[in-house]
Amino acid sequence: MASLICKGRLDFLSGEQRAELSRHFKKPSKTAMPHQLVVRLGLEYSEALAVLAVLEAEGLCENQLLIYHNCEPDVPAGAIPYGQGFPNLPWVCPLCEKSVEDYNELSFDVIATSMHPIEFV
Ligand SMILES: [Zn+2]
Repeated sequence: MASLICKGRLDFLSGEQRAELSRHFKKPSKTAMPHQLVVRLGLEYSEALAVLAVLEAEGLCENQLLIYHNCEPDVPAGAIPYGQGFPNLPWVCPLCEKSVEDYNELSFDVIATSMHPIEFV
């Protein structure tokens, strides 16, 4: 069990929110997306992103940028490591095989996958 010390970095998390995060990440290979943390914990979107960024900086999670194409807005069409910017254009959508030349056809989200059980302390 890896401990993530929230003091000094994620001071906005209440004890209850830390306990909820610890419950969520009790098993390895758990995923989390910012909007899920917003709903589940009542965080601001920016706070949820901060939680995922600290988890990755500590080597506890791997974060990916999910790529959605407007052919299937609810199904991720691809993923690249988070922090490398956006995919190069033209980008070929594996779902519809269209060559995308405009970022307006794409949308993005972040997903974190934990590598260890994590306790938020
Ligand atoms: Zn597509």
